[in-house]
Amino acid sequence: MTHNPHTTYADLLAAITADSGTEIINPATDEVVGTYRQATVEDLNEAVSTARAAQREFAGLSDAERSQLLLQAADAIEASGEALVELLSREQGKPLNGPNARFEVGACAAWLRATASFDSPDYTAVDDDITATVSYRPLGVVGAIGPWNWPMMITVWQIAPALRMGNAVVIKPSEYTPLSVLALVKVINTVLPEDLVQVVAGGGEVGAALSTHGGIDKLMFTGSTATGKKIVEASAQGLTRLTLELGGNDAGIVLEDADPAAIAGDLFWGAFINTGQTCAAMKRLYVPAALYDDVCAALVAVAQASPMGVGLEEENVLGPLQNKQQFDIVDRLVKEATAAGARVLVGADPDYGAPGNFYPTTLVADIDPDNPLVVEEQFGPALPIIKYEDLDWAIEEANKLDVGLGSSVWSSDRAKAREVAARLEAGTTWINSHGAVDPRVPFGGIKSSGYGVEFGTEGLKGLAYPHIING
Ligand code: NDP
Repeated sequence: MTHNPHTTYADLLAAITADSGTEIINPATDEVVGTYRQATVEDLNEAVSTARAAQREFAGLSDAERSQLLLQAADAIEASGEALVELLSREQGKPLNGPNARFEVGACAAWLRATASFDSPDYTAVDDDITATVSYRPLGVVGAIGPWNWPMMITVWQIAPALRMGNAVVIKPSEYTPLSVLALVKVINTVLPEDLVQVVAGGGEVGAALSTHGGIDKLMFTGSTATGKKIVEASAQGLTRLTLELGGNDAGIVLEDADPAAIAGDLFWGAFINTGQTCAAMKRLYVPAALYDDVCAALVAVAQASPMGVGLEEENVLGPLQNKQQFDIVDRLVKEATAAGARVLVGADPDYGAPGNFYPTTLVADIDPDNPLVVEEQFGPALPIIKYEDLDWAIEEANKLDVGLGSSVWSSDRAKAREVAARLEAGTTWINSHGAVDPRVPFGGIKSSGYGVEFGTEGLKGLAYPHIING
């Protein structure tokens, strides 16, 4: 295995930053994390062309050899683990502990290992009349455009199946979190063939150029529905294949037989994972009138016991919003809720003068089901809790929006919960948890939450085309 020199934070930062360029600001402290050189559309063109050349050679490796490289990439991430964690925390803002920076870097290694272990999707259909072999072949060069909430993990979700299936990847990270992606790729490139995975850390114009680039055979996109729609339009030009993981507004429904004390912790983290900045987090919670006060009180207790603060302080489990734009969205939605008469159980009222984009952990009760905090995606630490009398009404409410990434049902009766789950419109419905993705299980949205699935053997098929030899 190639020597990995990027095992300390200082070495890793020095390897990806420049003396001048664009500054990245720590969203918890307003301090400069580092400076990097913004890539241009010319850099993108060069990256696509060198990636294409590297892919031709890479495609010649066997499936077992490619899987072995994924395992080595996982080892490299672990060797640089704490350096990556520190950078991620400084740039994204997320704390070290809880479902945050250490969790994310650990998930990167775990996803690479799992992706190396999946069964190949290849198969043969054979009987007296037919012998057809179906072989999944690489597409070529995959473009990967990602967001700022889980910058390392989502990059791995995009590149691991692409590499396993024999593709090269050109990544355009979010302008808010380029260093995390540059660092991750710097580390895995200590073991991967040269030029196979490249990062073009430029602005929206580089993303737009990637989505219309004639040399891109498939685009993996995670981000907002608005940008997703632009990408769909752009893809028409070259009929570029797409996997789109867009926003959500996931509902959770508590059933009358649930035990509020038993579910409170998982309910809370289903909503507040990564300080609410997660596509498949619970963003609205429906609770029956009989349990309403108890569930609200139990959630307040968890909120008050979960410290928010600067990511690098070990005790914190909630952090700032990654950027001011997102802070303003959460702030506006909570203000609209309170102006309409909703009741703040805990939180709201941020300190606007303090450093960082901290928005207090906020629970909002007695809210109208059509309030903007319920029907728009807040993508931050503010959960509306809606009271219901009639389960059928709650199911209708859960299904009424034009998004469908995840949803959840909370109950002491698994069979009953599964019955309700079957009536929810979403890519995934969890029972007694929310947002718990697994590399072996397909994940994707319906409606405006996107199309195509990631993970598992199903996910591998999205990064390849089936070639059939029939006869
Ligand atoms: P965007 O969709 O704007 O950005 C996601 C990525 O797309 C970024 O890398 C961005 O680059 C890039 N991009 C921007 N314009 C184009 C384009 N025309 N063609 C191709 N790529 C482009 O999301 P934001 O980061 O601004 O977040 C806004 C909202 O999106 C959030 O409020 C949230 O609702 C949702 N979101 C959903 C996520 C999810 O996991 N599903 C994750 C993050 C956000 P650049 O940064 O340079 O603009």
